[in-house]
Amino acid sequence: MAVSDHVDLPTFMEGVKKRNPHQPEFVQAVQEVAEDIFDFMADKEQYHAQQILRRIAEPDRVVSFRVCWEDDNGNIRVQRGWRVQNNNAIGPYKGGIRFHPSVTESVLKFLAFEQTFKNALTGLPMGGGKGGSNFNPKGKSTREIMRFCQSFMTELYRHIGADVDVPAGDIGVGGREIGYMFGQYKRITNQFTGVLTGKGLEWGGSLIRTEATGYGAVYFLANMLATKGQDLVGKTAVISGSGNVATHAAEKIVQLGGKVLTLSDSGGFIHDPDGITQDKINWVKEHKTHRRGRIEEYVEAFPNASFHAGKTPWGVPCDVALPCATQNELLGEDAKTLVANGCIAVSEGANMPTDLDGVHTFKAAKILYAPGKASNAGGVAVSGLEMSQNSERRAWKEEELQQMLKDIMSGIHDSCIKYGDQGSGYIDYVKGANIAGFKKVADAMLAFGVV
Ligand code: NAP
Repeated sequence: MAVSDHVDLPTFMEGVKKRNPHQPEFVQAVQEVAEDIFDFMADKEQYHAQQILRRIAEPDRVVSFRVCWEDDNGNIRVQRGWRVQNNNAIGPYKGGIRFHPSVTESVLKFLAFEQTFKNALTGLPMGGGKGGSNFNPKGKSTREIMRFCQSFMTELYRHIGADVDVPAGDIGVGGREIGYMFGQYKRITNQFTGVLTGKGLEWGGSLIRTEATGYGAVYFLANMLATKGQDLVGKTAVISGSGNVATHAAEKIVQLGGKVLTLSDSGGFIHDPDGITQDKINWVKEHKTHRRGRIEEYVEAFPNASFHAGKTPWGVPCDVALPCATQNELLGEDAKTLVANGCIAVSEGANMPTDLDGVHTFKAAKILYAPGKASNAGGVAVSGLEMSQNSERRAWKEEELQQMLKDIMSGIHDSCIKYGDQGSGYIDYVKGANIAGFKKVADAMLAFGVV
């Protein structure tokens, strides 16, 4: 007799918890998806019979490896590296590399799981993966970063490839790190292929890749506001983070007529009641990315602003909010505060920045709330376009790419409406994104049989 997968949600989640002990982030990500998918699957026997959700929630493989490197004082340092290849039903594994001391197998498994649905939502042929290391780039010299990246790639290269698995950047991994890793890949394999995205423009990179995640999150926000006949002109925005995603989200908000009030980093947030203009954003980019400074120094450059040590910015009243720093940075209480202060829309630039409590609060309040797997998909979408340009051996023009990014974000928004429209004007974007992403991957898996 066939084993039935007709278990209820709590039983399914019990199994996930049991099989993944001490992996709270991964369990949280699966729970958020499963809450919607169980409803959707209720009358779809084939997904149950083929155990599709159970299979997507079990990575194809998790590779873990040692990364040794020598610091500037001649000390030998040992870090752990991972690549999680979650699912390649619709294309090569694709997802960023994160260097941060908080990186664990649980964090990378949650990110690879989320990435699987996100990549499906873009409409491009990309599976889901994620990788990284608990290496802390803060305070390291450029030579130390180079040696670490080279050592990391000396193991990773055997698991990736242009048609196998194509990593990109994430927290702690920007253009500089991608350059060092690509250089080492090329040196070891003697191949110049599109094996990484986020490359420099001179060596196979795509225009607007750097801007794409932040810009895309704001395009998605604008699409959501348009369903209520509104736009960003004159709206106040609270943003967390001050890295790639946050600064480009801020830039696009300003371009579309909004006023950005906050940015943050792991030390706290700055509140600038005058608005963070393009000049000030340029200062932050230079200060954080190139000089690797702290956001608190903003108040020395712009004295009308205030710095709030150890705090997140969600208590500042605003019309729209964009969490763009890291996972679980916006908790249930923060969500309640945002709603109570009149926030009408939240677009996640980061991955899983809102905890489950917060997600439930936004859903209950029926505000416009976009989960990262929908709203921050612009980055991986342009990475997908970078892969296409690499295969074609040519580079597309900026206008073409800008239009493609806008079209992809609108397409994701349409998919969310298709599966998330709850009637009487409320769109559950979480449900819409989960179901649309799941269905595409699940249907491909059905076609392959039991593999
Ligand atoms: P980034 O350039 O390295 O910037 C990360 C920012 O978040 C920094 O301001 C950092 O502050 C802050 N941060 C990190 N950990 C934090 C913590 N525990 N508490 C408070 N602040 C913290 O990274 P990014 O590329 O912008 O990525 C930000 C988020 O977007 C991540 O969730 C990432 O997975 C997601 N994302 C990125 C892309 C992309 O294309 N880059 C695409 C999709 C999603 P410090 O400087 O103090 O560390």
